[in-house]
Amino acid sequence: MNAICFPEKLSLGLFPTPVHELKNISNELGAQIYIKRDDMTGIGLGGNKVRKLEYLLYDAKEKGARIVFTTGGAQSNHAMLTAAAANKIGMTPILILKKKGVTEKKGNQLLESVMGTEVRFMDTNSYDDIYVEMDKVGSASGMPYYKIPCGGSNALGTVGYVDCVREMRDQGYMFDHIICAEGSGGTMAGLALGAKLFMPDCRVTGMMVDTDPFDEITVRLMKEAAKILNADIEIKRSDFDLIDMCGPGYAIASEEGNKAVSMMAEKEGIFLDPVYTGKAFAGLIQMAKEGKFKKDEKILFLHSGGAGGLFAIDMEDGK
Ligand SMILES: *Cc1c(COP(=O)(O)O)cnc(C)c1O
Repeated sequence: MNAICFPEKLSLGLFPTPVHELKNISNELGAQIYIKRDDMTGIGLGGNKVRKLEYLLYDAKEKGARIVFTTGGAQSNHAMLTAAAANKIGMTPILILKKKGVTEKKGNQLLESVMGTEVRFMDTNSYDDIYVEMDKVGSASGMPYYKIPCGGSNALGTVGYVDCVREMRDQGYMFDHIICAEGSGGTMAGLALGAKLFMPDCRVTGMMVDTDPFDEITVRLMKEAAKILNADIEIKRSDFDLIDMCGPGYAIASEEGNKAVSMMAEKEGIFLDPVYTGKAFAGLIQMAKEGKFKKDEKILFLHSGGAGGLFAIDMEDGK
């Protein structure tokens, strides 16, 4: 195999993030469950987007950008973290968000207001409309600008989660399963590619919290990220597993998700969120109950952050 070559990145967060066992939950589920604390990445309220942003904002800086655009739903954790990270390196963030979900000054909207971030809402269902709007606003500003896609999920952002698997290997861990939420795809694709490269006996399962065609998206992002890394390997759909945990819809609480949020809070003192990590952890509980984990196997749950959602999304919807 060719030498894997990671692109340059900024140092924005606090890495490596801790890994530890969830002892009470392991007892309860009869499996060895560990957690990777990417809720503690050191910017905003923490979260998975920081690893992606270290690569994406390096690229933005290299290209001389002064303005950074990104998008997502009204309560996008990614948009909030992009604003926080861009501010930190002296770039101006502009968020053009879908006018969908909780647009009041709660959760991530509150945090953006506290940071003084420019937030615009667009009444559209199509991100393509929003990317066109970014070009309009960017051109009108007369300043060089950089567009980060929804969730930071392009090939370069995906590299951030390949790096995360390398980090866990360097922390001395070899897992049999890695489980994460899948929202825009980059995190899952990065973990699945990272496992192929650095933890070859590990099976990665993405818990889908939206309804996009994630099998195609994941394969495409894995292939594109492998190219950036100069990794000469074959990528197949059978490299990873996907489970639908979306429930009533994206960013709407589900009953199983709520139960998982409560279990993690009560047993371990760790807060998940109703949109991503709660539903993903519910998927892990389901796999444990179906006997998918063997006694001697080590299971890693990625805590990808999302705390802002707890203060904005109505969990009563999932009752
Ligand atoms: C964005 C996000 C995810 C999903 O990651 P993707 O790379 O978009 O699939 C998971 N958890 C949280 C808290 C997120 O904000």
